[in-house]
Amino acid sequence: MSALQVSINDQSYAPQRIFCIGKNYDEHVKELGGQTPEEPVVFMKPVSSIVAPGETLLMPRHGNLLHHEVEVVLLIGREGQDIPEADALSYIAGVTLGLDLTLRDVQGRLKKTGLPWELSKSFEQSAPLGDFKAYDSNSIDLENFSFICSVNGDLRQQGNTCDMLFPVRSLISTLSRWWTLRPGDIIYTGTPAGVGPLDSGDVVVIESPVTGSFSWTLARD
Ligand code: ZN
Repeated sequence: MSALQVSINDQSYAPQRIFCIGKNYDEHVKELGGQTPEEPVVFMKPVSSIVAPGETLLMPRHGNLLHHEVEVVLLIGREGQDIPEADALSYIAGVTLGLDLTLRDVQGRLKKTGLPWELSKSFEQSAPLGDFKAYDSNSIDLENFSFICSVNGDLRQQGNTCDMLFPVRSLISTLSRWWTLRPGDIIYTGTPAGVGPLDSGDVVVIESPVTGSFSWTLARD
């Protein structure tokens, strides 16, 4: 398989990392019965788990409860370390929506025993990702960005980035203290409330006025 390439405005990026933020919307933290975090919760998915819009998603076989989590996703455009919040948005090259697919039953077991989340979050095809749109701070407001997820035509999740516990500026600033951010880095920024199960045959659609809509169909292997 060749390396993933993302192109925006004639600029090409080769993503090597996907950072994912957990527990970034209070209503979602509550629906899972968790604690509101004091700093961003970070985990990662391999770039090989990305699935382009329209491709079939195969149900993973090592869990029983596959959940959709719609999220605003950022593409980093330039290298940065210790980025001040005031400059953070200038590091963004692109914006889209993605699904942080999660095996909720497996995650429950891992959380209970204090084990890492990879089996529940970082499996094959766990990162369906829309097409990136060039980020322009004049036309895209990342502090008031609404988005939805529907399954078979039923609205399941309705979010707005204004409800983030750690807004985009803060996420980029914090991540850049813990890692050197690089062009091509992808950031899934967390899911709002309404996560729920997906089954074989379901059609999942994620949509926002800024990005348009992207969809995937689930199937069993
Ligand atoms: Zn998530």
